[in-house]
Amino acid sequence: MRAKFSSEILASADNAEMASIMRACVHCGFCNATCPTYQLRGDELDGPRGRIYLIKSMLEEADLSRSTQLHLDRCLTCRACETTCPSGVNYSRLVELARPIVDAKVGRRPLERFKRWLLRQIVPHPKRFAALVFVARIFRPLYPRALAELVPKAKRKQLPSQAGLHERKMLIIDGCVQQVAAPEINAAAREVFSRLKIELVSSTYAGCCGAVSYHLGEVAEAQGYARRNIDAWSPAVAAGAQALISTSTGCSVMLKEYGGLLRDDPIYADRARQISALVRDPSEVLDLGELAKAYQVKSDRRIAFHAPCTMQHGLRVAQRAEACLNAVGFELTEVPDGHLCCGSAGTYSLLQPALSEQLLDQKLAALEGASPTTIASANIGCLMHLQRRAKTEVRHWLEMIRPHAVKPDHQP
Ligand code: SF4
Ligand code: SF4
Repeated sequence: MRAKFSSEILASADNAEMASIMRACVHCGFCNATCPTYQLRGDELDGPRGRIYLIKSMLEEADLSRSTQLHLDRCLTCRACETTCPSGVNYSRLVELARPIVDAKVGRRPLERFKRWLLRQIVPHPKRFAALVFVARIFRPLYPRALAELVPKAKRKQLPSQAGLHERKMLIIDGCVQQVAAPEINAAAREVFSRLKIELVSSTYAGCCGAVSYHLGEVAEAQGYARRNIDAWSPAVAAGAQALISTSTGCSVMLKEYGGLLRDDPIYADRARQISALVRDPSEVLDLGELAKAYQVKSDRRIAFHAPCTMQHGLRVAQRAEACLNAVGFELTEVPDGHLCCGSAGTYSLLQPALSEQLLDQKLAALEGASPTTIASANIGCLMHLQRRAKTEVRHWLEMIRPHAVKPDHQP
């Protein structure tokens, strides 16, 4: 993409990075074909190429308005466009750099500011989130349908975990929303890893990964979460933890960003890079042969797997989780348009409900079309979003594997 940026503009490191990303774009428009918001709205400015143009105009001509902000707000940051782009344009980085600039220059209406502030005050803090969920569940029967659907479903009964002590140790992040809404997911991870002789350890000092703040444009706040987590995990890393596991792919992508997020911090830069390099999705660690020896499905369970955008476009490991499910004997159904976002996208479902609802309905039709017994996924945001309206049970893929342990005397 041809662009003329003044030397004054390029003097800022962030602007120079944005300019360099934009120059890689050859304007072909292939990305529009896989962009969920372009598919829904049919408006060039609600597709990646149009958004890149808006950011270019902002930098070249300081042409910036509330309309620019609206089109960037409608972007899910799902990164489907990155997977499609033949020129390797790092769109997500571009939009993450642009959003705080747009917000600072255009501002936000008081109600929008309050909503965003409230989300940052509640979602990353498990005690506050738990209190909110507790109250919301009590009053749920009184809410209209749309509001009642937003309340997380009642917690499932916690099964006692069979996790044990092993020489191979890896860190696991408890997360913020997940430890309140679905603690059974990490319990399942501990047990499955333990049967493969890996102990998952967590630090009580670690907290939210910072994704909520980061995606709402509060970079300094996200850096604060990152520093706290790095401090919390450093002792285990120094003691030889082999990896940092997250059972939520949204958190994994954020943890992989720590190196870039703190690259200019003289105290944390090296440790941030080290933490990012340790991040692994569970599916990357579990050995398929060992998994197949330890777990085998006897019943006829057909799973529709929803690969979160963070898993397929961010981490690019969706096939690995599917391979794990196949290895233990699950049958996976065909899911049309699997590359499209479900509309959860962090806080998107709360900030852009109309588009999010359309994407949810489309996704559930695609997932439930082949009548699976269960929908499995890998990210707490997607799981909660799908559970709102799914007629089929929705679970994390590790929870699906956990109950099917082969008794030791039956192992080959
Ligand atoms: S990140 Fe997703 S919603 Fe945003 S432009 Fe790319 S494909 Fe479209
Ligand atoms: S596919 Fe890539 S190069 Fe083509 S318009 Fe989209 S971002 Fe630009």
